Amino acid sequence: MARLVILGGGESGVGTAILGLRKGYEVFVSDKGEIKQEYKNVLEHYGIDWEEKKHSKEKILNADVVMKSPGIPDTVSLIVELVGKGIPVVSEIEFASPYTDATIIGITGSNGKTTTTMLTHHILKGDGLNVGMAGNIGDSFAKMVAEKACECYVLEISSFQLDGIVDFKPHIAILTNITPDHLDRYDYQFENYVASKFRIAKNQTNEDFLIYDADDEVIVSWLAKHPVKSIVMPFSIQKELDQGAFLKNNEIVIKINNEIIKMKTSTLALEGKHNLKNTMAASLAAKLVGIRKQTIRDCVANFQGAEHRLEKVLKIQHVQYINDSKATNVNATYFALDSMSSPTVWIVGGVDKGNNYKELMPLVREKVKAIICLGSDNSKIVDAFGNVVDLLVETYAMEEAVKVAYKIAERGDTVLLSPACASFDLFKNYEDRGNQFKEAIKNL
Ligand code: ADP
Repeated sequence: MARLVILGGGESGVGTAILGLRKGYEVFVSDKGEIKQEYKNVLEHYGIDWEEKKHSKEKILNADVVMKSPGIPDTVSLIVELVGKGIPVVSEIEFASPYTDATIIGITGSNGKTTTTMLTHHILKGDGLNVGMAGNIGDSFAKMVAEKACECYVLEISSFQLDGIVDFKPHIAILTNITPDHLDRYDYQFENYVASKFRIAKNQTNEDFLIYDADDEVIVSWLAKHPVKSIVMPFSIQKELDQGAFLKNNEIVIKINNEIIKMKTSTLALEGKHNLKNTMAASLAAKLVGIRKQTIRDCVANFQGAEHRLEKVLKIQHVQYINDSKATNVNATYFALDSMSSPTVWIVGGVDKGNNYKELMPLVREKVKAIICLGSDNSKIVDAFGNVVDLLVETYAMEEAVKVAYKIAERGDTVLLSPACASFDLFKNYEDRGNQFKEAIKNL
């Protein structure tokens, strides 16, 4: 019996364990930290051998194949040892994809993955397709493959998942954009991170598709130097294209061969330039799998956006409160500020990831009336914007930040939480930060 060892007992680890078991492997799950009780219950239920708070080498180094959770870097000594012994160490998508014949739509990029994944899934489901949504977004792909027979999977894929692929390929890949992120895992070399994102197309053939942002200079120059075999489907909000998606006369035009779909931008559910791009990417993917034009039009109009992404929370005394807690880097916040149409009280800050705030400067001058810093160390933000806005206040708790915003904001203004930073200094994660924001607003 072949032996599958899984490092990391989280969603993808436990999902892979179930699939491995179904496919006849002897499975062992090992987690150096604590495994959540709900996952322990699942492992017990299936009779899968597991351990936590340690890695027992004698039970790991005899694996035929190892599935490593995306959170574990390649550089930890155990992984180095496994690789040194010639044992394949793969990611969940690599392990699971040979067990399904379904069409796979794989979505990666620095920003917009979750939104594009949800919208693509929404459109496909809207046409009655038996479609699963999995990956970074929440549910394990491997578990879905084990338990459901979908015709199509829409997968949100991180660069860490892509680092662990050998043969995996999506039939349709979407590369939303590439801006610096997670550089700590890539030797602080942006090139390495870009290369990792492009692994999404590495096994594609001339029957597969790569949808990408043609306005993104990093993507375009990489493609010029490293051509792909895939059929390329670019999208742009700046120029008209022969093939792909673009804007013309306030309409999104989807053009694939001689087929054309037009959608008025005023009918789209999601606001902001970045969401025009996400809508283009999702619509292209939907058209490529054969979804009807009218379904695409209807679904991009009635889509309910994802929580914590430019999420409208409440209007209080004619002030709109918007939760964009998922904006954990400067590029995401750029698009949030760009989409503001009224004077904005901007709540920003958290754990700095080596941010360069320069690109936000014109938007801040144009749109922001006051800045409320919310982080344990706000010095970089104070330095960057202290002289740019009339009012800058430092706060250290969400409730305080929201109360200050409430005092400052006047009729017709917007209060925007778009931190451009990670959340770990004051919050458990970005969801906790967004939820505390919403709670504080409700308590006003
Ligand atoms: P991801 O899953 O890649 O983190 P999300 O859809 O969760 O992407 O969005 C993360 C943040 O980035 C949100 O603040 C959102 O408003 C912003 N965003 C969404 N799409 C894009 C895009 N195409 N370009 C830039 N920023 C985006």
